[in-house]
Amino acid sequence: MSAAKFSSAQAPPAAPASVRVRAPGKINVSLRVGPLRADGYHGVASVYLAVSLFEEVQATVTESPGITVTVDSDGALQVPVGGIPLGPDNLAARAAQALASFAEKPTGVHLHITKRVPVAGGMGGGSADAAAALVACDALWNTHLSREELAGIAAGLGADVPFSLLGGTAVGLGIGDRLTPAISKTPLHWVLVASDSGLSTPAVYRALDALRTEEQLQAEEPVEVDSAILAAMRSGNARDLAAVMSNDLQAAALRLAPELADLRSAGVRLGALAGMVSGSGPTIAFLAEDSGAATALEAALRAEGHRALAVEGPVSGARLLPAVVG
Ligand code: ATP
Repeated sequence: MSAAKFSSAQAPPAAPASVRVRAPGKINVSLRVGPLRADGYHGVASVYLAVSLFEEVQATVTESPGITVTVDSDGALQVPVGGIPLGPDNLAARAAQALASFAEKPTGVHLHITKRVPVAGGMGGGSADAAAALVACDALWNTHLSREELAGIAAGLGADVPFSLLGGTAVGLGIGDRLTPAISKTPLHWVLVASDSGLSTPAVYRALDALRTEEQLQAEEPVEVDSAILAAMRSGNARDLAAVMSNDLQAAALRLAPELADLRSAGVRLGALAGMVSGSGPTIAFLAEDSGAATALEAALRAEGHRALAVEGPVSGARLLPAVVG
């Protein structure tokens, strides 16, 4: 636990009774997956991009100890929230518990999550809830941990949690949690299309292992980020990026959800520069030339009955929102 940041003469500011935090979902502009390791994980080399689709967590002090969770959703992707656990397994609740244990604070918090990122969609929505809950409880409990300390707790909660805390663009190595910020020219414009049912991340990794065995494909080791991806991100040229973005999990996701192939083709027919499964899917991220092209593509995909949303990235990681007055 960190040393207190206030001297005894200088009282810390009073903690608020309720705070709101937003944290972004991510897409993987590039995702390379190494072979299955003995510990059951796969090494990855990922280029993460935080996009302007934000989860929101409101944390409110409660009189009784413990952590309670409620969830609703809003936004164009109409995220169903029925299957999300509301008990201690909820990633936001796990984050609050981990912070309380680290900072030796008693719990007594209600977390209300507003979901906008598709559940089990390959965009790290649960991880964003965890990152948001960490920042919210840090403010609520006056723990004032450093970003490094929060990142350490985040890494123990899941591979994508540290990135939602950091935001921007970053290379992720290890299981995706060893992050190095990367340069990218703002903004790149994307259109996300949500699917009606989610894909389990472990099931997609298992499908990848099975595909590689069947096709006798040797996974690259060690996995590394393609320098062409980083060059395209640096230049901010969407056409260059469209030519090199790739996702090793895509073939596995398409095997489990073959209808995604038609969706990808539809997006490209309607004007996308390229379309790719985000992370373990099934959300598809289409890259557009510019903001106007993204808006037009969003409209065209909606006209064909898809739940589509234009977003941009990079955006910042988990941040406190101003207090609501009145
Ligand atoms: P990732 O890409 O990080 O592997 P994902 O975006 O595909 O994950 P999530 O929406 O983060 O998937 O959630 C995966 C599972 O985690 C859900 O099916 C749900 O059972 C569980 N879960 C726990 N807490 C949450 C939460 N706050 N929001 C969503 N799902 C949660």
